Amino acid sequence: CKQRNDVLHMGSFIHRNPCKSGAQCKDIDNEKHFQEYEHPSYCPSGGYCQDTSDNHEKAYRHLPLCKYFQKCLEYQKHIKTHCEKFRHCNPSCKLGNYCINFHDKQHIENYKHPFPSPCVFTPYHCTLHEQFTMTTNIEKILDEVEQHCLDFAHVCRFGRNCTDKDSLHIEKSIHVLRPLCPSGNECTKLIQEDHLNSFTHPNIRDIRFLCKYADKCYERRNPKHLSKFRHIITFEDSGVVR
Ligand SMILES: [Zn+2]
Ligand SMILES: [Zn+2]
Ligand SMILES: [Zn+2]
Ligand SMILES: [Zn+2]
Ligand SMILES: [Zn+2]
Ligand SMILES: [Zn+2]
Ligand SMILES: [Zn+2]
Ligand SMILES: [Zn+2]
Repeated sequence: CKQRNDVLHMGSFIHRNPCKSGAQCKDIDNEKHFQEYEHPSYCPSGGYCQDTSDNHEKAYRHLPLCKYFQKCLEYQKHIKTHCEKFRHCNPSCKLGNYCINFHDKQHIENYKHPFPSPCVFTPYHCTLHEQFTMTTNIEKILDEVEQHCLDFAHVCRFGRNCTDKDSLHIEKSIHVLRPLCPSGNECTKLIQEDHLNSFTHPNIRDIRFLCKYADKCYERRNPKHLSKFRHIITFEDSGVVR
């Protein structure tokens, strides 16, 4: 109601307070609650609404999401009875730039993400992205390498410790929030590859560069070297670590 400041209007009509949760209210189907508070009305686009912007989601009530999203056959055949009951859109992924499901093809197809399609080789096996991040002179980088890093999203090597505020970096990267190592600076497992690959440590990149000497490397017990390079170990106690 736009006339809430009009005393006469307010005196002559009953006004319910708007529900704080608005269109996202979980009690919207509870009749008593629904009567008591004012809730937004249904979106006029019904089951076809594609607008997943925050403002729109708050302003209108929407039908429940169909579990087949836009791949739903009934939706594609415009079956009215089904489309009146379910919404068919690609909602935004709640994790956004921090999405950990980037290798789940279904998830990437069904949810909108702020980054381009994830490179199938990220985080450990993309040599083009490795060249891109290792270079000290961005001018000298091959066009092919740069093009690949613009076309596909890659996992940022710094994860939650990333300080890169460059908008292009943020747009093209996935920042996976790995669990922090509970021991932090006092960690005693800094020479264990699988530990370094699973937890974030201060001053150590989440995704370290690949050491070219692999399991022939003499410095594999040197924490300083390990903080920069990872090693593909094919034998050894921890089994296969990629
Ligand atoms: Zn409510
Ligand atoms: Zn809508
Ligand atoms: Zn459907
Ligand atoms: Zn996601
Ligand atoms: Zn790549
Ligand atoms: Zn980053
Ligand atoms: Zn640790
Ligand atoms: Zn090494």
